[in-house]
Amino acid sequence: LDSSILLGQLLREGHEVQPFYLRCGLHWEREELETARQYLRVVASPGLRPLVELEMPLDDLYGRHWSITGREAPDSSSPDEAVYLPSRNLLLIVKAALWCQMHGIESLALAVLGSNPFDDATSHFFNALETVLNCTPEGRIRLVRPFSGLEKPSVMETGREMPLEYTFSCIAPQRGLHCGHCNKCAERRAAFASIGLDDPTHYATPAAPSHAETGAISVCRSQIAGRGRPA
Ligand SMILES: [Zn+2]
Repeated sequence: LDSSILLGQLLREGHEVQPFYLRCGLHWEREELETARQYLRVVASPGLRPLVELEMPLDDLYGRHWSITGREAPDSSSPDEAVYLPSRNLLLIVKAALWCQMHGIESLALAVLGSNPFDDATSHFFNALETVLNCTPEGRIRLVRPFSGLEKPSVMETGREMPLEYTFSCIAPQRGLHCGHCNKCAERRAAFASIGLDDPTHYATPAAPSHAETGAISVCRSQIAGRGRPA
């Protein structure tokens, strides 16, 4: 949701946008990538460049982690900290940032929310990483986070008119559908409910009745590079 809304907003603001998808071999990527391709087809405009897909297999590193196997993924009753993926933002950014530097794109935008609870989503982390990236001879790059001061409902309001049915959040898909009971499905339901928007998602199972909204988090699965005016 967050990355798709960010892309829509950057296009709306007149930026030329180069979207990225990083394939790491995670359990939900087939469904997520297909949905992302549909979203890009629907929002296509002269400012939108073709999707760049980058490979970074992580099964050798993550091993039997639930994000690789799909087994025992954090469910709707788990704390948001349970969905942390080791060094996710670092791994997401490095290859996309280098692509940007090699192609003359000076800003890499990420849909990190202000409510993201993880250490690799802080200003300290992004400022330090930006400094490191700019120590290389490949050229200047800025890491921009237009949603860093926002929480989920504000981001959802930004995307209210966007085709959010073409987004995918689930970490334990069933038959190509959102499972309806994982941590991220619960967060997705809460996101639509938070602004009173009908949830267009087809879930494989109904919501668990015990879930209460615990606040929004976002572990960005893709980055969106804006070209032209700074984001
Ligand atoms: Zn799910």
